[in-house]
Amino acid sequence: METILIIGGVAAGATAAARARRLSPEARITVLEAGPDISFANCGLPYFIGGDIENRSSLILQSPSSFKQQYDVDVHVSTSVESIDRSRKIVTARDAATGSAREFPYTKLILAQGGKPVAPDLPGAKKDHVFTLWTLSDMDRIDGFVKERSPRAAVIAGGGFIGLEMAEARAKRGLKVHVVEKLPHVMSVMDPEIAGFVEEELVAHGVVLHKNVGVTEIGDDWVALEDGGRIAGNMVLLSIGVRPTLQLARDAGLELGPAGGLLVDEHLRTSDPDIFAAGDMVEIEHRVHKAKVRIPLAGPANRQGRIAAENALGGNHVYQGSLGTAIVRVFDAVAGITGLSLRAARAAGIDAEAATIHKEHHTAYYPGAQQVTVRIVYEKGTGRVLGGQTAGYAGADRRLDTIATAAFAGMTVHDLADVDFAYSPPLGTPNDAVNMAAYVAENRMSGHSPSLVPEELDAWIQADAPVILDVRDVFAYRKSHVDGAFNIPLEVLREEYASLPAGRPVLVYDETGKKGHQALRTLVGLRGGVVVNVGGGHRSMQRHLRAAGFRNVSLDLLEVERKDASSPAAAKKADVQTESVPKASAAGPLIVDVRTTGEFATGAYPGAVNIPLDELPDRLSELGRHDREIILYCASGGRSGYATRMLAQSGFTNLTNAGGLSKMMRRGR
Ligand SMILES: Cc1cc2nc3c(=O)[nH]c(=O)nc-3n(C[C@H](O)[C@H](O)[C@H](O)COP(=O)(O)OP(=O)(O)OC[C@H]3O[C@@H](n4cnc5c(N)ncnc54)[C@H](O)[C@@H]3O)c2cc1C
Repeated sequence: METILIIGGVAAGATAAARARRLSPEARITVLEAGPDISFANCGLPYFIGGDIENRSSLILQSPSSFKQQYDVDVHVSTSVESIDRSRKIVTARDAATGSAREFPYTKLILAQGGKPVAPDLPGAKKDHVFTLWTLSDMDRIDGFVKERSPRAAVIAGGGFIGLEMAEARAKRGLKVHVVEKLPHVMSVMDPEIAGFVEEELVAHGVVLHKNVGVTEIGDDWVALEDGGRIAGNMVLLSIGVRPTLQLARDAGLELGPAGGLLVDEHLRTSDPDIFAAGDMVEIEHRVHKAKVRIPLAGPANRQGRIAAENALGGNHVYQGSLGTAIVRVFDAVAGITGLSLRAARAAGIDAEAATIHKEHHTAYYPGAQQVTVRIVYEKGTGRVLGGQTAGYAGADRRLDTIATAAFAGMTVHDLADVDFAYSPPLGTPNDAVNMAAYVAENRMSGHSPSLVPEELDAWIQADAPVILDVRDVFAYRKSHVDGAFNIPLEVLREEYASLPAGRPVLVYDETGKKGHQALRTLVGLRGGVVVNVGGGHRSMQRHLRAAGFRNVSLDLLEVERKDASSPAAAKKADVQTESVPKASAAGPLIVDVRTTGEFATGAYPGAVNIPLDELPDRLSELGRHDREIILYCASGGRSGYATRMLAQSGFTNLTNAGGLSKMMRRGR
């Protein structure tokens, strides 16, 4: 009969114990846990601090007695293992309450000791208003401090997942929040345009970002930065990484790996055949590039715990590597990554490309549609999916998991282009955002629609000195455009393309990449030559600019619309009033913009009144006499065509459909 001893009783350890019992009714199973709790939801800690989770007890998933009752597993909490005697197959542990040491025998040992937050050696880092968040006790200390001392401003060192979850938690509690990040952007594992989306959301909620700079000292109510700056803050959270807990393994002579974790084979066996390991302390093979990596995340820890238990009991379960799929919600925004980022893929020597799209998460016409961004990273020659990133308010999680599955299975962008995804108007679109991103990748690979993602622009612009063409409407162009870009809206491109300087490549962009692709195909047909589209368009450039900046692209950064942390949805709605129609006058025609109030607010023809198409039937009486001259327009000419027919059927006689906004703006030039 096996005696399974498990060191560490949270994600990997508790899972291993439960799995071992399910597989073997007779094994003796014991868990030794240094802390006071086992099997608690450490991923939920920030949400208790932020107030989303009200009951502390809901974070405690098991207790020693419930574990004993449910699984017949002996759990010893507050029991820290001090040594492993591999030859005698005995570990020695000390009970924190009594101070006494005790020996525990094993036939198979599973190490699941996790890691610890990196504690920087900074002046002031030990002050009582400086915290890390890793355990329930850490959470209690933070919560107690906030309740007793009511700090006004929090400084968070580290813009990774936990740091940003804490930024949200603190802002929701009304504190002024500063995030200090040593690297160029937050969420450094992500590519800049996805990180830039997260930064937009932080800034929208009043979080102040200090990037490319580290903390040098912590005072009682300030934090000093490497660049000489000082931030006022009387609560500090350090969230600058996780270090695996390896002393015990090291002392026991177990082999460590090149990535700084405990080395295990594909069965999660350490260099000692009777010792297995799982979770944050191990290094495993990356599913995509096969290098050894440490991926301190709950999903891999749980699955590894399960597999380690199975193999400790004589099983033959191969761990197939991790993609490091991770997702974060910051206020309302969600962003995630799976597999390799473009930067990581290229750093690993893979000839990689990326394709980005922005698309509604469900049909645009069904209420509540929100943009989701999908970026697929793939191998240039083969189209093999190497990874992906998604960002948005709704639907980003579903797309991320789809790409994770594709990357895991070794699928290509051609496969993804052809997958049938679930569709119904409130739930998706007939061409899902993942299909679309795959189409863009295919078009890029085949040369049908060459595109570049923002991080590739600097080099290409420097090398090819292209003509830059902005095909958005004039109002979008006026707000922010690439310096030196010509503005010819897509709608009038066929008429006006000849005004572009000849003989040079053209770099075209629109708002999201979609019309840019259309413009590219139009230009290739009309004038030939090299035309390249900016994948993700102006939106992706804005996000990249915010996160990482450009060297050779000069672009104004748009201001982020402020949101209220306590009721973010309220801030999203544009406060647009519908105008009333001026009484008929002899001065000129009545110009009616039939776009929505939101579209109208982004810019309209001077003097135009806004009667959205849906309101037109009820507002006919405002238009005056039936022989009054009325000019109608919308975004592209479709809705204004419909409105023109509607007015004609209602007896109006002097009507002109001027088409889209850009055509309208060019009238009378
Ligand atoms: C605040 C926070 C939020 C997170 N959010 C997410 C998230 O949203 N998504 C995600 O995927 N991951 C998240 N994580 C990471 C995730 O929780 C970890 O990857 C996971 O818990 C690792 O599991 P583990 O079992 O390897 O280690 P742990 O869960 O850290 O457990 C290790 C245990 O071993 C014990 N131990 C160590 N040494 C000894 C010893 N000598 N003797 C006895 N016991 C010992 C420790 O006390 C500890 O309880 C989050 C982590 C934190 C702290």
